[in-house]
Amino acid sequence: MWFEGSIGTENTGARDKAWATGHSPEKLTDDEAVTFGTCLRDYAIELGAEFRYDTMLVKCEQNSDGRVTGVICQDGNDLHYIRVNASKGVILATGGYVSNTEMVEARQAWNNRLKINVPVGGSCTGDGIKAAMWCGASIDPLGCAVTFNRACCKPDEVAGSDLKGKWFWFGEQPFLKVNLNGKRFCNESGPYDYMLHSAYMQPYHTYVDIWDSDYVEQVKQLNEVGCCRLYPFDNGAPSNMPVSLMGKKFEELEEAGYIQKADTMEELAEKLNLPVEATVETWNRYNMFAEQGKDEDYNKEPYRLTSLTHPPYYGVRTGSWFLATIDGISINTDMHAVDEAGKQIEGLFMVGNDSGGFFSVSYPNLMTGLAAGRTMTFGRRAGMLAAQGK
Ligand SMILES: Cc1cc2nc3c(=O)[nH]c(=O)nc-3n(C[C@H](O)[C@H](O)[C@H](O)COP(=O)(O)OP(=O)(O)OC[C@H]3O[C@@H](n4cnc5c(N)ncnc54)[C@H](O)[C@@H]3O)c2cc1C
Repeated sequence: MWFEGSIGTENTGARDKAWATGHSPEKLTDDEAVTFGTCLRDYAIELGAEFRYDTMLVKCEQNSDGRVTGVICQDGNDLHYIRVNASKGVILATGGYVSNTEMVEARQAWNNRLKINVPVGGSCTGDGIKAAMWCGASIDPLGCAVTFNRACCKPDEVAGSDLKGKWFWFGEQPFLKVNLNGKRFCNESGPYDYMLHSAYMQPYHTYVDIWDSDYVEQVKQLNEVGCCRLYPFDNGAPSNMPVSLMGKKFEELEEAGYIQKADTMEELAEKLNLPVEATVETWNRYNMFAEQGKDEDYNKEPYRLTSLTHPPYYGVRTGSWFLATIDGISINTDMHAVDEAGKQIEGLFMVGNDSGGFFSVSYPNLMTGLAAGRTMTFGRRAGMLAAQGK
């Protein structure tokens, strides 16, 4: 495992404390087919586990005492039904409901408004959560999602549930961001979804990222933490994406009509369909803050104020990249689903994004890897308890 050694917030005057919790599996061999996942799978098979792909959970079965005794599944090819008896317990892990737009609308409509669709798979449609609720389990009172400010749309488009856009990895870098009236509306430096939540209250729930040609140097100064970092960490652990790739990505997005580029801020504002006067005024004020090292409007950390005075300038309309839902079925500390009264439903365990009680409203990236981390940690605990029939 690579351990992300730098937290990027020590002695910098950062607003938020971030912890160095991120781990990334190292490449194990030169064979691309050998991954962390395939190794775990093969190890499980060695120990007697059986994998059944193309087998869809439909519902759980309960006995007269309410204990969950197994599941009914459907074969993904010929759709015949399969009954699986489970004497020790059922662990539901169908990954939440990110791909069920109707369920998202019912539970967290604001995230549909912020969303720019960028494909992330499409198989998590809330089946495990629904199956547990049919057994009497209760669900978190508030919807919650992993949303990153890394999806973009074209200058004549706005974020919203039907819009298809593009992936924009650079979006998390805390450069100047303005609403569609050309005004700043929050401190751009913060966990990924903080500014998306601010954007929800802006016109058309859409905003614009603005940066300039000096971005390679400036990104170093911005010293981001977690998965959006574009430089290796202090201990040599690589970032998920290197800054050297950004230029090529910008070109592709520019060619496809997403990123706009111009030699003056006036021209850039026009290309992005922003009011020119207001945008230029905001840009001038932002540069003044950068020069004086003090953000009088939103108190952004001085080391994250960089002057945008190096043409050509770049800009793109941005919204949320909606990765996963992370609210779910209420559980107790033994990973059992519980009903409204907190009473556990015997034989039914919930893990990962099917389980709730952990996040609320936000997925702050101050502990990198927390979503995958709780899934694996609590999943292991559920497995150990279920194996003992507890
Ligand atoms: C692109 C992307 C990047 C991410 N990056 C990070 C990161 O860097 N760090 C981090 O901590 N988290 C990250 N996350 C979030 C993290 O991946 C999830 O929180 C985690 O995978 C949840 O695990 P899970 O087992 O609950 O769901 P999943 O890993 O989604 O697995 C659920 C599985 O259930 C299957 N399924 C769905 N319905 C049924 C059904 N009816 N019957 C049978 N099977 C079904 C699905 O096909 C899927 O294979 C990322 C997510 C995405 C999409």
